[in-house]
Amino acid sequence: MRTVRTIFNEVAVWRTERFACPGCGKRRSRRVKFYQTLNPYNIWRASEGGDGRPKSRERIRAEIKAQAAAWKPICAGCDADAKARKGGAV
Ligand SMILES: [Zn+2]
Repeated sequence: MRTVRTIFNEVAVWRTERFACPGCGKRRSRRVKFYQTLNPYNIWRASEGGDGRPKSRERIRAEIKAQAAAWKPICAGCDADAKARKGGAV
């Protein structure tokens, strides 16, 4: 069997933070990547205020910059704990 891979252009921004973790109080530093790929299936939906057409590089950059700005620094350990709690049944 042949696998055909299509490499889409990735648009990414990195955010590097030094902080005291709000979860455990430890001083940490993290480098987090926010990205989307530039591809025909990555649609800017009307429900998100878009035009229903594939996102442009500028549009993606604006979105990932907003995500990066909204990110609250938390250490990798607490982040994993929070995700596990969110995913598991309570
Ligand atoms: Zn922590």
